[in-house]
Amino acid sequence: MLKLNQIWNNILLEVESKVATLAYDLYINSLEPVGMYKDRLVLLAGSKALKNIVVNNYKDVLKKATAKVFPSIIDIEIITEEDVPHLGAVQKEVDIPVSSAYVADVEEKACFVAQYTFDNFVVGKSNEYAHAVARAVAENPGTKYNPVFLWGGVGLGKTHLMHAIGNMLQRNFPEKRIMYVTCDQFVNEFIESLHNNTDPNAMKHFRAKYRKLDVLMMDDVQFLANKEGTQEEMFHTFNELYLADKQIILSSDRPPKEIKIEERLKTRFATGIIADIQPPNLETRIAILQKKCNAKGYNINFNVLSLIAERITTNIREMEGMLNRIISYSTLVGGDPNDMGVVNDALRDYASAEKEVITIDQVVSATCEYFRIKKEDLIGKKKNKEIVVPRHICVYLICDILEGTPLEAIGEYFGGRDHTTMIHARDKISEAIKTNSTTASQVKDIRDKLFNR
Ligand code: ADP
Ligand code: MG
Repeated sequence: MLKLNQIWNNILLEVESKVATLAYDLYINSLEPVGMYKDRLVLLAGSKALKNIVVNNYKDVLKKATAKVFPSIIDIEIITEEDVPHLGAVQKEVDIPVSSAYVADVEEKACFVAQYTFDNFVVGKSNEYAHAVARAVAENPGTKYNPVFLWGGVGLGKTHLMHAIGNMLQRNFPEKRIMYVTCDQFVNEFIESLHNNTDPNAMKHFRAKYRKLDVLMMDDVQFLANKEGTQEEMFHTFNELYLADKQIILSSDRPPKEIKIEERLKTRFATGIIADIQPPNLETRIAILQKKCNAKGYNINFNVLSLIAERITTNIREMEGMLNRIISYSTLVGGDPNDMGVVNDALRDYASAEKEVITIDQVVSATCEYFRIKKEDLIGKKKNKEIVVPRHICVYLICDILEGTPLEAIGEYFGGRDHTTMIHARDKISEAIKTNSTTASQVKDIRDKLFNR
């Protein structure tokens, strides 16, 4: 069964190369898949104007791309909110065949983001060491720098550098088996193989897949925290690759010694080169924006770029978000993106528009996912430690993130508990994070997950 998002993402990948970047960003990428209706894929446009643009200009491209990847989907329908009530039942998951030609095509090339190259990476004081190390391993993978451990705050270019290494390696060493995987993917695959009842060889395949590589890149390894089983698996994978002089590249939001993982794995992670990336200075931030504009064909002047770079100082992804907002706003209102009046209008609601509204449900699911427990247990009556601690942490996070939510309402959500019980849970964790580093990092990791950091 394929989930709707998987279907849509595959179609997007196919469409992306067929339309101009601006049109793709503005029109195609903003469509939302609603469901399958008979053999048609239904997509939601944010407004009537957007719907008309897509129907008149991009429907054929979309149809062609869809037919290429999923031959059984015969048509595409674009709707707006107004049409939703008349829609009837749509399916959110579909069992459809993927074009075999297409699958072979995707599997052949490892998926590195084409734009994340060394050429598109701006080097400044804050990242020059990490960049130099990345380039060195991309040119000469194997023994010299092994493992490479890149760390730094969110949105500072770790993933970009890993893909740049991947792109370069793939070009220079097409025979090498190179793999980029996020830590989450690795964890999930491991757990799926562990619980796979239909294929007795699932674990064997999983191990073989990772241990036969020439280059393994794992992104965001801080998410190995609290996953003892996967840590053990990673330890053996690491050793096997390392002893065979295979290149290992890891990234994290903190240095190895601060990741909550077994000592022996921590030591392994720290045996090679450790390179950090710091937030870039103003000059570098402007240069990065300039580069993004060149890549996307935007013509934006220095004043606007400096305004963005001055407002956002520690996260490049956010800077790009602001740039995109100015571009899409000016396109939609038909204004000049270099006109400060238009820019200010575009950014007026920026802070509030970007602030995500998090719900209790989301905090609860993130907590359950993190600790791998069921929701009914988390909000239920069980009293064992494996459940009680996550429950307390969840209550603490709700109180903290959704400040102002009445304790009675939270108690109600947690199976009709008294508000004093909620206070007890909240205070217990707010004390624990001061003294217990495990609790502190659990709270931080769940929060990061919630805010997609
Ligand atoms: P991280 O993995 O560290 O959270 P990413 O690699 O996802 O960050 O980077 C976030 C965005 O910022 C990406 O679009 C990336 O291309 C861009 N970026 C980060 N650093 C640079 C840089 N030095 N030059 C150009 N773009 C950069
Ligand atoms: Mg990243």
